[in-house]
Amino acid sequence: MKIQVNQIPAKGAAFEGKEQGDILQLNDPAIRPVDTLSYSLFAQFDNDTLLVSGTLSIDLELDCVSCLQPFIYPLVVRDFSVETPAGPHDTVDLTDYLREDIVLALPAHPRCDWDGSRVCPGPKIPRQVTEEKEPSQPDAWAVLDELNLRKKN
Ligand SMILES: [Zn+2]
Repeated sequence: MKIQVNQIPAKGAAFEGKEQGDILQLNDPAIRPVDTLSYSLFAQFDNDTLLVSGTLSIDLELDCVSCLQPFIYPLVVRDFSVETPAGPHDTVDLTDYLREDIVLALPAHPRCDWDGSRVCPGPKIPRQVTEEKEPSQPDAWAVLDELNLRKKN
């Protein structure tokens, strides 16, 4: 996202919208943006300084650290703020600042029950192993028993 300083009026200007492309380029298979970045920012230029502040948001698909299931996490940065020196005819690229604040806001241990709207089933790997192996044999014997009973009758 780029801001042209000479397009900011003396009172400042609001910028709202959506990035067209994937400016975050997180390149992490565990963090999958399902949408592009939305922003609602206010820019001011004063004394050779560009001030931009506002809110960023992006929906991400993350994997739960406990049950390993993917879930949607609406990441919001409410206090995005940049203060950078700029000339009156400069074009300032905010992409690095946006990316940095999103990365800092990522949950270190994402959990699918983060907002309480679902209950995390928890790790299920040990349970799966025992459930899959044990029932198959008794079932086979039960079928045989049934066949034997039918023959006898
Ligand atoms: Zn979970």
